[in-house]
Amino acid sequence: MNRGGKTGILLWALCWMLGVCACSGSAPERMSVAVTIPPLQNWAEQLAGGRVDVVCAVPDGGNPESYDLPPSAMVELSRCRLYFSCGHLGFERTWLETLAKNNPSLQVVDLSRGLPLLYGTHVHHHGEEEHLHHGADYPDPHIWCSPRLARRMVESMYRALVEADSAGATVYEANYRRLDAELARVDSLLTAELAPLAGKAFAVYHPTLSYWAADYGLRQLALEPDGKSPTPQYLRTMVDSARRAGVEVVFVQREFDPRQAETFAREVGCRTMMINPLAYDWSDEIKRIADAFVR
Ligand SMILES: [Zn+2]
Repeated sequence: MNRGGKTGILLWALCWMLGVCACSGSAPERMSVAVTIPPLQNWAEQLAGGRVDVVCAVPDGGNPESYDLPPSAMVELSRCRLYFSCGHLGFERTWLETLAKNNPSLQVVDLSRGLPLLYGTHVHHHGEEEHLHHGADYPDPHIWCSPRLARRMVESMYRALVEADSAGATVYEANYRRLDAELARVDSLLTAELAPLAGKAFAVYHPTLSYWAADYGLRQLALEPDGKSPTPQYLRTMVDSARRAGVEVVFVQREFDPRQAETFAREVGCRTMMINPLAYDWSDEIKRIADAFVR
């Protein structure tokens, strides 16, 4: 190929890239927004009602506390106008700064802002390094598992969507009212179902349900004390605590090896239940967890 041909291809590629980045052209640009996990994708899609494209950074089955963003996803995310973050997930702590740097027009909306965060309930490893975030200075990131805080997260999403795209305000408002009513319904169902069990304890492998437990006055015993598999000694003390507390169920997240939880359950004489707090169908999953606890 001659020089001119090569230059032509380079120019074409450059124009295409500029077109992708700037979305110049006469057709009105469709807004894209990003979220970290599938439950937030569900909420954003319900609020947007097809008006906005929603990109989920951590795919189904990925662990949002340690997920590494592939370069292909970086391109897709850098086209987004808004990023709805849970606030304190390992993935967000690692990647949001890079994403914002790559795309100065990306507005990060921290959905945990202004919420009553829990400290001391969650300690874990950050990425590959042997670097622990201890509970004292690191809020528990699993905020979306609380129906009450979920309502406030959705309200922040709604407000940010209206601000970014005021032409869609009436659509967003109608969708927000509907979604908020659904979340309120989940909360009142759980309040009615769990109120008689206030003070009761459950066990969970990774401590994902701290906010959920706080909403309904329940006690969470976590088998994974520091983001690593529990030692046999630690498991022993947890078995004793669980027996004393009358634990009847141990929840296991599907990202984790269930064997230790199964051993724990045999020792305690309780049942195990697989849960997925990262499920896209958030309402169903949150109700299923409550049903399993009550059963
Ligand atoms: Zn966690």
